[in-house]
Amino acid sequence: MPEIPTFAVPSPFLGVSRTDRAADFVIAGVPLDIGTTNRAGARDGPHAIRRASRMLLDGAHPTFWTDPAAMNLADIGDFQLALGDIQTSLHRIEEQANGLSHIIALGGDHSITLGLLRALARRVGSLALVHFDAHVDTWPSNFGQTFAHGSVFYHAIEERLVEPRRMIQIGPRSPLQREVWNWTIGHGVTVLSAQDVHAMGCELVAQRIREVVGETPTYLSFDVDVLDPAFAPGTGTPEIGGLASWQMQAIMRRLHGIAFVGMDLVEVSPAYDVAEITALAAATVAWEYLALVGASPET
Ligand code: MN
Ligand code: MN
Repeated sequence: MPEIPTFAVPSPFLGVSRTDRAADFVIAGVPLDIGTTNRAGARDGPHAIRRASRMLLDGAHPTFWTDPAAMNLADIGDFQLALGDIQTSLHRIEEQANGLSHIIALGGDHSITLGLLRALARRVGSLALVHFDAHVDTWPSNFGQTFAHGSVFYHAIEERLVEPRRMIQIGPRSPLQREVWNWTIGHGVTVLSAQDVHAMGCELVAQRIREVVGETPTYLSFDVDVLDPAFAPGTGTPEIGGLASWQMQAIMRRLHGIAFVGMDLVEVSPAYDVAEITALAAATVAWEYLALVGASPET
């Protein structure tokens, strides 16, 4: 148990005191939202997620019995970005993510993932990808903008940062162009729509994720809009028919043993949130992930 009372928790994620880049696991905020196509505001995501994380300090994870707050974990604060310049911002994200052993990035809109993947792929090669999202994010551009939050995985595949046959999307359900869908499937990406998740159940979804990623070093990219707006209203591009927060937990808790090398949690837009439920869901995803990767192999 922490010795300090709840309302005195320091402001870093989970109140951790380490701020150095040498920790085994490193939290970094990436407050960029100029890649959004609808409602902006995700630049305030890192702050809201850190604040909500104070709810997760009073014990170990009830499945893995790991306590993320007690792990070798640092919060290095927020990355420096280039105001109004998405390409330079992506370069800065890549530079600052470089050399971190295992990043947990708090967005920010989904554009940030491209910079993070560039940094990681340089070190470990082409990655497997577990991608939770209401959107496929494989548009070649968004309304004429080459780099934006809806084109991140188009570029990640084109730049060979991820191996599309080792890539699985969970939760897509938005309207989209047939050619974008065909391009995605045609590259070998596995897509389990939100309807698929509801029909299959979480056990089978987790099994499918394991089959697709195999033993390959794997990145987790979690767009909070995969959750239904009832569970995560505070986001820029909400879509109905999404996952409940319990489904996220049921799937995440069945991914033990996957060779995860990093993650991001993106698209929390606090101005649209209600009673911090989106921020809490997002903080809990990062906490679930830390408990998962911190769990002993025997678990
Ligand atoms: Mn997305
Ligand atoms: Mn999305």
